[in-house]
Amino acid sequence: MSDLLTLDRVEAGYGPIQVLKGVSLRVGVGEIVALIGANGAGKSTLLRATSRLLQISAGTITFAGDDLARAPAHALVARGLAQVPEGRRVFSRMSVLENLQLGAYTRPDPRLIADGIERAFTLFPILKERRAQPAGTLSGGEQQMLAIGRALMCRPRLLLMDEPSMGVAPMVVQLIFATIQALNREGMTILLVEQNARQALSIAQRGYVLETGQIVLDGEAKALLVDDRVRTAYLGG
Ligand code: ATP
Repeated sequence: MSDLLTLDRVEAGYGPIQVLKGVSLRVGVGEIVALIGANGAGKSTLLRATSRLLQISAGTITFAGDDLARAPAHALVARGLAQVPEGRRVFSRMSVLENLQLGAYTRPDPRLIADGIERAFTLFPILKERRAQPAGTLSGGEQQMLAIGRALMCRPRLLLMDEPSMGVAPMVVQLIFATIQALNREGMTILLVEQNARQALSIAQRGYVLETGQIVLDGEAKALLVDDRVRTAYLGG
């Protein structure tokens, strides 16, 4: 399977603090890859480095065959890399509809915008009901749905998702994960960062375990789910 995203010995951090200590991973076209790890392991840092919000100090990141070293963050969206950030970051005073429209800023074509909005409403019908409401008045789960819908507006090839289950009611978590799976079945490639290791590994094809900035384990998601080290550390034994 050809790779869409490759990280090779990536190092990154904040000033003198090195967080990623030589991380290598790959995401093949059409895969869901789960990245699991404890609080503070560096999962969000890895996503920030990938979407160029954070400068890397060593290693290479390749997306669709291009070295991302010199690509500015805004250019990546146009190339097909979209991030659903941790904590969702919707524009709380703007309506659901306006949030979706903003997601299309790299492709201001009215027909594409209309299609994207329709798609978000089909995936998450509740967003249609709430379309005129300020995004800040939505529940945590609905905001997550909006953040996903917004990221899809620019028709990405790769979706980077940071903790989509965080702050979301358990019943809605199921819906979010089912939607991620449905998107993947339609061909979307996804790098899924989650503390909810069981859920993430149960929908992913492969997974990586990040501990204090290093990949300590990787493999088929099914194998990781029954791996003793993963079970003890991340699945509650
Ligand atoms: P969480 O699930 O809690 O978000 P994580 O695995 O995503 O955990 P990161 O957010 O990547 O972890 O954080 C990794 C380390 O980098 C932590 O020790 C954190 O304190 C530190 N860190 C994160 N952001 C910054 C920042 N802006 N400045 C300095 N240190 C930071």
